[in-house]
Amino acid sequence: AYRADEEYDYLFKVVLIGDAGVGKTNLLSRFARDEFSFETKSTIGVEIWDTAGQDRYRAITSAYYRGSVGALVVFDLSRRVTFENTARWLQELRSHTDPNIVVMLVGNKADLRHIRAVSVEEAQAFARKEKAFFTETSALESINVADAFTGVLTQIYHVVG
Ligand code: GDP
Repeated sequence: AYRADEEYDYLFKVVLIGDAGVGKTNLLSRFARDEFSFETKSTIGVEIWDTAGQDRYRAITSAYYRGSVGALVVFDLSRRVTFENTARWLQELRSHTDPNIVVMLVGNKADLRHIRAVSVEEAQAFARKEKAFFTETSALESINVADAFTGVLTQIYHVVG
């Protein structure tokens, strides 16, 4: 778990899910190094849970999802099966969380342009169907990573008011 600040006006729990190897750990470490401030009004505590290395321990599933108000559902743009599996991750997420949870579908490894296996249009259409937002990132080249996290937080912030 990563907590940006011990003193905050809001604390939002955001979970990172997706197949092993899609880049969850690297997205989180890339994001965590950057400062995140939300205008100047409020300090937002961000508690991000990462399943890294724990995918097999299904007993922790409920605890992992409990109380989360946002989720990044990550796949690897160069491995089609990881995109197809996001349907299962979304199903698990929905069965453990509030219907109003803010979901961002994240196509990571956008830098691997030459071996891309999922088109923007297809991913966008799927996200729309799932009432999720969609973005593409590269943890390696530091593209769009902060926007993926802040996009979720912005939506949560608006929902919470
Ligand atoms: P996790 O299992 O989902 O937490 O995935 P990791 O963050 O451990 O990353 C799995 C592998 O993908 C590692 O070898 C990373 O270096 C690599 N990786 C992660 N993000 C990117 C990215 O944006 N681009 C590329 N090319 N490789 C990445």
